Amino acid sequence: MEIQVHDIRKTFDGTAAALDGISLTIRSGELLALLGPSGSGKTTLLRVIAGLEFPTGGSVLFDGDDASHRTVQERNVGFVFQHYALFRHMTVLDNVGFGLAARPRANRPAKAEIRRRAEELLALVQLQGLEHRSPAQLSGGQRQRVALARALAIEPTVLLLDEPFGALDAKVRKDLRRWLRQLHDRTGHTTVFVTHDQEEALELSDRVAIINQGRLEQIGTPSEAYLRPESAFVFDFLGSTNVLPVEVRDGRAFFAGCPVPVADGIEAGDGHYTLQARPCDMMLAVDRQGPGLGGIAEMVRVSLGRVRVDMKVGGLARPIELELPMKGEGWRELQPGQSLRVRIDRYHLFAAP
Ligand code: ADP
Ligand code: MG
Repeated sequence: MEIQVHDIRKTFDGTAAALDGISLTIRSGELLALLGPSGSGKTTLLRVIAGLEFPTGGSVLFDGDDASHRTVQERNVGFVFQHYALFRHMTVLDNVGFGLAARPRANRPAKAEIRRRAEELLALVQLQGLEHRSPAQLSGGQRQRVALARALAIEPTVLLLDEPFGALDAKVRKDLRRWLRQLHDRTGHTTVFVTHDQEEALELSDRVAIINQGRLEQIGTPSEAYLRPESAFVFDFLGSTNVLPVEVRDGRAFFAGCPVPVADGIEAGDGHYTLQARPCDMMLAVDRQGPGLGGIAEMVRVSLGRVRVDMKVGGLARPIELELPMKGEGWRELQPGQSLRVRIDRYHLFAAP
């Protein structure tokens, strides 16, 4: 099932547009991550695709047919939400079979058939043996797998997952991420996975659509998004970056009047830009001499895989906040009050906003 989202707009009463003209195509059988900060419109877009929310404008096509006026049932989508409430008074098996049992009599399978299908799905999500437990007797990760089995039971053409692992702890999330990827590879459902977690989106998906303030910033494979970000937002959002407002003159960049050392000079016309660099593409040295953007460390914090430094530069009133790599020896010795130099080996330049 291919889904085309065409120029979707959604405005709730009296608010700014939640979706501001989004167009994208979800390819048949792919696992697409919808990634964006909280409030960017991910859930609204997912609900529009499902038919739970009607857009103010635009259309949704399922395999080329306009589905805009179809109900949720007619679209045949399977859903899993972040806090998916399973029915507490029902067993795991009855939870999974619920969607089938609730069908109108004409196309409701026989009881034994529903049971067989539910058992099959529980095997698929690796929960054999837990059929007769109640949801309260399961771990969080097991409950989310029951929710997934329940969504799959109706044999959906599309699977829509809204932060399904959001409420679980980091270790369980990582396991479920890997597990979901394998499940997807076996079943081949067209799947849309909403998350605000960059790592989850990049590690899980075939392609990632990055949403910001109701607009699509970029869509592409994880490595395209990471290595060839098309906007300052995408670059910054996909992993920590250092942001320097610079002025380019004759192929050289200046920050607060100091030359910024970048490899190979800068290929950009004169003007104002935002220069961004990831910690892994930078180098830090604590000696006073040599190339590099120099300054004095004000605050030094060791974080996971990075060193955060507030660096006072020249005549600037406020220090710049940097995230530097734990590469070489320099970072081990770094103390407040010390001189340091920062070299930038790879960077991206974006037109200043
Ligand atoms: P996300 O899932 O990315 O966090 P949402 O799609 O939930 O974002 O919300 C996008 C924007 O739309 C937010 O500003 C939110 O407050 C607003 N919004 C979402 N649902 C409603 C609603 N039912 N009524 C009014 N505003 C809403
Ligand atoms: Mg949401």
